[in-house]
Amino acid sequence: MSIVHLNGKNLPADQACVPVLDRGFIFGDGVYEMIPVFGGRPFRLDEHLQRLENSLAEVRIPNPHTRTEWATLIQRLIDANRGDKANSGDQSLYLQVTRGPAARDHALPENPAPTVFAMSNPLRPPATYIIEQGIKAITLDDIRWARCHIKAISLLPNILLRQTALDADAAEAILIRDGYATEGAASNLFVVLGEGKDAVLITPPKGPRLLPGITRDVILELARAHGIACREDEIRREDLARASEIWVTSSTREILPVTTLDDAPVGDGKPGPVFRQMHALYQANKAELRGAPTNTTNPEQA
Ligand code: PLP
Repeated sequence: MSIVHLNGKNLPADQACVPVLDRGFIFGDGVYEMIPVFGGRPFRLDEHLQRLENSLAEVRIPNPHTRTEWATLIQRLIDANRGDKANSGDQSLYLQVTRGPAARDHALPENPAPTVFAMSNPLRPPATYIIEQGIKAITLDDIRWARCHIKAISLLPNILLRQTALDADAAEAILIRDGYATEGAASNLFVVLGEGKDAVLITPPKGPRLLPGITRDVILELARAHGIACREDEIRREDLARASEIWVTSSTREILPVTTLDDAPVGDGKPGPVFRQMHALYQANKAELRGAPTNTTNPEQA
C-alpha cells in the first residue's frame, strides 16, 4: 500500500479521505505539480515549487507552506515510499492543493483552509522501442481555456483531447490555436526545422497558451550548453508539416519523438539525429542527479 500525504500527515492511501464539499471535488478548484524523482532525489525541485507558487498566486489560493516546508514534506513522502518494493526506484511525486472545504458557492470563501495532498507512484522511463520507433500524434483544435500557464487540476479538456488521440491510435494530441501549434495535451512541443548544420530546434515561447514545462526548460538549457541551435518562437501549423523532427516533452514521459503526425511520416519517419543527441544529454543529466549530493532546497538545512 503506498503512503500518501494529506494535510500534514503521511498515511496509507486507503485511509486518506477528503470532505465531499472540498472545492477541488465540487469545482475542480485547485492546482497541482508533478515532480519526477530520480534515485530518491526530486528533479528540479526549486523550479517545480516556483511553478506551484505561481499557480497558487494566479488562482488566489493562499500558499499553505513555505518553500522549506514543501521540500521537507516532499522528501519525507519520497522516503516513506522507497521501502515499498514496487516504488523503490524512480518515482513521480504528485502534489495537489485545493481551496479546501466550503459551502458550495462560486465566490471565494473568506477564510479558506487549503487541502494539501501528495502521492508517489513508480516512474518508468519510456520503453526502448518507443525511443527507437517514436510515437504517433494527431493535431486537434485547442479547446482549453485562455490561462494554460496555470497548472490547474480541472483537466477535462486535456483528458478529452488525449482520449481523442488514443481513440485514433495516437499517443498524443498536438494542439492548434489560431493556426499555431501550442503544446501537447499533457506535454510541451519542440520541432526541428532544417537538417544537418541548418537544423534549428524551436519551441513556442512561454505565455498563457501553454504550460511552462520544467522539462522544456531543461531541454533548452542542454541545447544551449551543447551548441545545438535553438530558439523560442511560434510554430505555425504549416511548420509541423515541414519539420524534420517533432518531439513532445514532459516530466513523466521525458522526450518522445513524434514520427507520425496525422498519418504522415515526420521527416524520414524515424527519430532524428537532434532527438538522439538530446535524449542522450537528458539521460546523462538524470544520471548526474542520481550521483550528486542533493542540490535542491535541502530540508535538513532548514
Ligand atoms: N503541458 C501540459 C499541458 C502538461 O500537462 C505538461 C505536463 O504534464 C507539460 C506541458 C510538461 O510539463 P513538465 O515538463 O513540467 O512535466
